[in-house]
Amino acid sequence: MAELTTTLIHHPYQPPAGFAAPQPGVFKASTVFFPNVAAMRQFEWKDKSAYTYGLHGTPTTYTLEERLCTLEGGVQCLLVPSGLAAIATVNLALLKSGDEVLIPDNAYAPAKALAEGELAHWGIAHRYFDPMNPADLAAKISPYTQLVWLEAAGSVTLEFPDLCAQVRICRAAKVLCALDNTWGAGLAFKPFDLQPGQLPALAVDISIHALTKYPSGGGDVLMGSVISTDERLHMQLKLCHMRLGLGVAASDAEAVLRGLPSLSLRYRQHDESARALAHWCQQRVEFAQVLHPALPQSPGHAPWQALCGHAFGAAAGLFSVIFKPGYSQAQVDAFCNALQWFRIGYSWGGPVSLVMPYQLETMRSSWPAHLQRGVLVRFSIGLESAADLQQDLQQALQALT
Ligand SMILES: *Cc1c(COP(=O)(O)O)cnc(C)c1O
Repeated sequence: MAELTTTLIHHPYQPPAGFAAPQPGVFKASTVFFPNVAAMRQFEWKDKSAYTYGLHGTPTTYTLEERLCTLEGGVQCLLVPSGLAAIATVNLALLKSGDEVLIPDNAYAPAKALAEGELAHWGIAHRYFDPMNPADLAAKISPYTQLVWLEAAGSVTLEFPDLCAQVRICRAAKVLCALDNTWGAGLAFKPFDLQPGQLPALAVDISIHALTKYPSGGGDVLMGSVISTDERLHMQLKLCHMRLGLGVAASDAEAVLRGLPSLSLRYRQHDESARALAHWCQQRVEFAQVLHPALPQSPGHAPWQALCGHAFGAAAGLFSVIFKPGYSQAQVDAFCNALQWFRIGYSWGGPVSLVMPYQLETMRSSWPAHLQRGVLVRFSIGLESAADLQQDLQQALQALT
């Protein structure tokens, strides 16, 4: 008989298999046991036919990966510790010294910082293209271009590009394209089938998400995903992912698995409230421009309508306002400070509404012609009552004077 300390570690009890409940089980592991040495030598993690090490996958991470593939219409998925890590993984897997990557000028700012810092440091060049002018993308593709990033809608300024035209340009040039699909969340449009019903399918090569945003939905998890459909491309990404030692915690995967069943309901509610508030802002005299792709006057409304106008015409819960030029940064800062329900904070996709002033002149190569001059503020609309949020905006606008 073993001693108690040993028995408590090597306990013989096996619960009956087949437990079923609304949420899948959570498996935490670094070490994974093999039944014998032969199995240890034979088990393969690359095709998910077995378990070999915590970093290579557990039932919890495999389950989340499969559900995210279903959400996006992809075939393979990798989980990484953040949305930014998803962007970094794609860059590191596909680019080498001497290559060039093209990035839309309105891209998520840390993705630009990654290109300007690490990628440049490793001899990988980058160029920014005008997301609203497909001809500019076509002109910037060179023999060195190995990857084109796309983002719809753009971060902060929310211009919606002609994604189909951009993907066609990449296809014609035989350059891989990766989409940051955080805004669309797999709901607004299908990145691997941009024109449903048309064959062959028009598709991006890779779609990444910040699961941090809508899929987790709580403002309490950081995670990203890299989804693809081509097996060879996936293996290139997966080997890089493994060599870099990227993985996610089971409890974080659990949090995203918990968020997924309510994703479309939440997304729709965020969208409905954001649209109502964006319309309200459009009536106000304080704003020179309201940026929301579902507003007919907003940059990229037509491509948004073409791609997302089906079903309920999904548009996420984000919009930005540009204050009339008479308002100073200090006045706009006072407006942000005066908001009660809106909290000042980065990120989005959680229940709490957020506000953030941005200094656009520091984020763009030049001030885009389609944007009015003035101080810009982005709102992320949470799940509070839209009427309460509207009252909050109204009372905070008094702080401008
Ligand atoms: C938030 C965000 C990211 C990065 O996600 P993190 O999990 O915060 O690293 C990437 N792209 C877009 C468009 C985002 O909004």
